[in-house]
Amino acid sequence: MRGLMQDWPLTVDKILDHAAEWHAGREVVTRSVEGPIVRTTYAGIHERAKRLSNAIKALGVQPGDRVATLAWNSGRHIEAWYAVMGIGAVCHTLNPRLFADQLCYIINHAEDKIIFTDTTFLPVLAENRHRMPTVKHIVVLTDEDHLKGGAVAGALSSETLIETHGGDCVWGGFDETTACGLCYTSGTTGNPKGVLYSHRSNFLHTLVTLQTDVMGLSVRDTVLAVVPMFHANAWGLTFSCPAVGAKLVMPGPKMDGESILELLETEAVTFSAAVPTVWQMLLAHLRTTTARLTTLKRVVIGGSAVPEAIIRAFHDDYGVEVVHAWGMTETSPLGTLSTPTPEVAALSFDDQMPYKLKQGRPPAGVQLRLTDDIGGGVPYDGHTFGRLQIKGSFIAGAYFKSEGGDILDADGFFDTGDVATIDAEGYMQITDRAKDVIKSGGEWISSIEIENIAAGHPKALMAAVIGVPHPKWDERPLLLVQLKTGEAATAEEFMQFLTGKIAKWWMPDDVRFVDEIPLGGTGKIDKKLIRQRFADYRLPTV
Ligand code: AMP
Repeated sequence: MRGLMQDWPLTVDKILDHAAEWHAGREVVTRSVEGPIVRTTYAGIHERAKRLSNAIKALGVQPGDRVATLAWNSGRHIEAWYAVMGIGAVCHTLNPRLFADQLCYIINHAEDKIIFTDTTFLPVLAENRHRMPTVKHIVVLTDEDHLKGGAVAGALSSETLIETHGGDCVWGGFDETTACGLCYTSGTTGNPKGVLYSHRSNFLHTLVTLQTDVMGLSVRDTVLAVVPMFHANAWGLTFSCPAVGAKLVMPGPKMDGESILELLETEAVTFSAAVPTVWQMLLAHLRTTTARLTTLKRVVIGGSAVPEAIIRAFHDDYGVEVVHAWGMTETSPLGTLSTPTPEVAALSFDDQMPYKLKQGRPPAGVQLRLTDDIGGGVPYDGHTFGRLQIKGSFIAGAYFKSEGGDILDADGFFDTGDVATIDAEGYMQITDRAKDVIKSGGEWISSIEIENIAAGHPKALMAAVIGVPHPKWDERPLLLVQLKTGEAATAEEFMQFLTGKIAKWWMPDDVRFVDEIPLGGTGKIDKKLIRQRFADYRLPTV
């Protein structure tokens, strides 16, 4: 027997419709690419996005066509998203930190028709325009004045398109399973693969992230969305903020500590989200000032493991709560969060720390499990490693154009490629990427755990651990350290620092100091590049 409730397709245009009606005057504030702080409202974004929908329809965009954005977080970027998604076309976010070859590969694979971009990226587009045969138009998120002299011939100004089209476009009216967004994975192995979100999956992800133990946003929040819209949909913030009417602050191109601090304070931000490196930069800047964080209450940090030093500094020095989160492009992205259960909340801050360092528990809507290499169960004892698998209505079921073939197992689970433990309280902890875990004498060593401890050394800016071939043990850990500016240290100092904090057989066989630990396009340590750089390195223990 079917239920008798209304058929109200879960399409994301309804989120902005809602914001425009019920939170019409709530602000969206952007540090613009041109420089000044620009203010608009949800009603303003809605009206302009509808005009932009009419404009792209006039440029020939049909339902199902892919329209790309190569842009910083801004109000104009949000308008482009909703303009595309509202008419049933697919918004494809491009990561500007990728190399030109990767960008061209992704644009061609997606067969993008239009690229919305900021003036910042015109040089790379101009240089590679001839390699993007499907792209018919480049629309620059700016006015005619700032477009003048732009490097791409024939590029259009979004402001002119908005001025010259009416706002009468009708959004929605299609099935909720219609594709809505496309984001390629970082492609650390092989070519990047496209994750194709649907309206329904984004809508459901929005509702799940609004749970109190997930992001718990409200109309009383002011949210600084530092995590880029091109990195897994800004972790859903451009949907969840309008859904609840939270004021939204967009940092544009400036994500250095000083610029972030300025926005946090002048806009009275209460909540923010970003990868650890952004917060490391903010904390480093804060230490050079007497500034306080007078309104910020909570930051969600994920994308890579959060070092203890960040959690402590936010708590001890600035009274800000850190919520550690895990997710991936394939999971929309939020999968788990380390919000405290009542039992954990009852502990002292120090006793809560082991839980805060874990990636946490799944919300309703996400199914998680650990399996061993042959698909067997793994005990949830907080120690035994297993492959992390995930299932749910906003988890990828296949990649765009079937790249990578069938990605689900017989039970419908997606293998995340992460290795993890789950403890008796249900807290999941990532121990490594399956390809980064160090296999020593048949046992697994977590490179992430050693990195996190080493990064807590007062002289360390960043640390990375890779496995290096060893004739007897298969692989042994090599610790690489980038010291803070002006510091000097010996390998011995770091070995002593690690002693007693990790098992003896996890101790690195060598410590090397490097000028730079390379980061990839989404701010994670680029282990592929490190492994290349150390391809000829031999351990002293061999
Ligand atoms: P991406 O799709 O680029 O967001 O990358 C997803 C991957 O980032 C995951 O599969 C994890 O390996 C890693 N990751 C995300 N969040 C965390 C976290 N909190 N701690 C450790 N690794 C993480």
